[in-house]
Amino acid sequence: MAAEVSSLGHALQLHALILKTGGDHLHPHSSLAFSHPGRSSAIANAVVRCYARSDRPREALLFFFHLQRSGPAPDPFALTFLLSSCARLRAASEGRQIHALSLKRGFSSNRRVQNSLIHMYSACGFLDHAAEVFDRVPERDVVSWTSMINGAVEANRPLRALHLFDSMQRHGVEPNDATIVAVLRACAEAGALGLGRRVHEMAVQARLDSKPKVATSLIDMYAKCGCIASAERLFEQMPNKDLFAWTAMIFGLANHGRCEDALRLFYQVVEDGMRPNDRTITAVLSACRNAGKVAEGYRIYNYMHRYELRPRIQHYGCMVDLLARAGHLDEAEGFLRRIPIEPDGIMWRTLIWASKLHGKFDHAERLMNEWKVLEKNSTESENFVLIGNMYASIGKWEDKANVRELMLANRINKVPGCSRIEVNGIVHEFEAGDSGHPESKRIYEKINEMAEKLRLEGYTPKASEVLLDMEDDEKILQLHHHSERLAVAFGLISTNPGEKILVVKNLRSCEDCHTAMKLISKVYNREITIRDRIRFHHFVNGSCSCKDYW
Ligand code: ZN
Ligand code: ZN
Repeated sequence: MAAEVSSLGHALQLHALILKTGGDHLHPHSSLAFSHPGRSSAIANAVVRCYARSDRPREALLFFFHLQRSGPAPDPFALTFLLSSCARLRAASEGRQIHALSLKRGFSSNRRVQNSLIHMYSACGFLDHAAEVFDRVPERDVVSWTSMINGAVEANRPLRALHLFDSMQRHGVEPNDATIVAVLRACAEAGALGLGRRVHEMAVQARLDSKPKVATSLIDMYAKCGCIASAERLFEQMPNKDLFAWTAMIFGLANHGRCEDALRLFYQVVEDGMRPNDRTITAVLSACRNAGKVAEGYRIYNYMHRYELRPRIQHYGCMVDLLARAGHLDEAEGFLRRIPIEPDGIMWRTLIWASKLHGKFDHAERLMNEWKVLEKNSTESENFVLIGNMYASIGKWEDKANVRELMLANRINKVPGCSRIEVNGIVHEFEAGDSGHPESKRIYEKINEMAEKLRLEGYTPKASEVLLDMEDDEKILQLHHHSERLAVAFGLISTNPGEKILVVKNLRSCEDCHTAMKLISKVYNREITIRDRIRFHHFVNGSCSCKDYW
């Protein structure tokens, strides 16, 4: 019966029929001639399922809540589909109502319902609620574990995800392809290359590595962990590459600053007759952005018309960033003013930041005044940091002090810089000025040694990169304690000489750390790779792969 209603089209027809015949409540004796309540319930459940699987999950919820008044009760299958709709829509409050209903109906110990609840709460970012349900599941299967892992990944908590994966293995639960994909995402995010390699081996042993989603996640993981060559090898070996694989590879090349190769792959996609999607476009645009290729950027942007893709905020953002960073400030501003949507804070900040970078301070000030940055967006700490730095770099200390006061008055804290480094399969996390690490004492000794060696190389810290108004000494001290420096110091003391160091940072690196890293790579004779929010920096023997364009 349920199988008869297999498509969205069917669901719509049935739904319309139910409404037309006044069978609002799917009454068994309505003119739809349901023979018995079980039949109407099955149809209602089938409609829910079709909507839930379609690109209109909202309709599933609307239909269901409409029926709730006196219609047939949902079965556990319908509940799972409703919960997955809530997950897709991030509709936590509806999800809670459905949770309550499942308790009332006595389905709360149904494993499928439980797994769907875990998935729903995870997807909505309520990891603790998910954990509560999870803890009550007597026999957790691979689906329960994977939902938990996925939730942690989605909530940008990769270390929690890796920890869960570890527990899962200790409980003797074998991962499936969805687990592998989720864990690889966590490894990629955390920069956990060693762990990622182990998961790769597991995937090979379980013969899951040829599944397209797994293969694509492997490409993504290697690229994000700095091993672009491994990513390329896997990509070459992949027999039937789908668009996701191509897009992952293009993103990888873009983040490594390999614009030419990213473009080559993109044109190959086009020549092969595949339709790039909006993520593919974002990937190539960011490649152009990272290499300052303005003409190519426009060309790629125009491909969106050819494929009838509507530009989204990330495409506009990429273009503004590309133009502004390349010094085409007026063009960037014109572009920003022409876009049909309200530009976001990131776009304004990019433009102001680039104006500062190119020494156009009046330009930057005019934009700041126009945007009324501190009035309109008074909760985004990045605005304060940007403007504080801006004033500092032109020596307007009083204005800067005002920004600082506003920040304090509004109780706005800077997003803390956070860097991660994996050593022997364990990911260590550092915040700026962190002293919580067990090896803290040795790390700071190394920091001091690094500072001394850099000084001998003629390095002078640029104190304007620090927002807080302090005495100069203190500012400099703070620069030396930026999170990536702590991570690199830890890397230097806990790995063998000559071993490569990979650090992953949540924010953009500051100019000062960038200069320092170049020197550290030379002084300590180490290859250091830093992935910041924008791209990769490979520091070798005193220079960086980005050629200082970032
Ligand atoms: Zn820094
Ligand atoms: Zn660099």
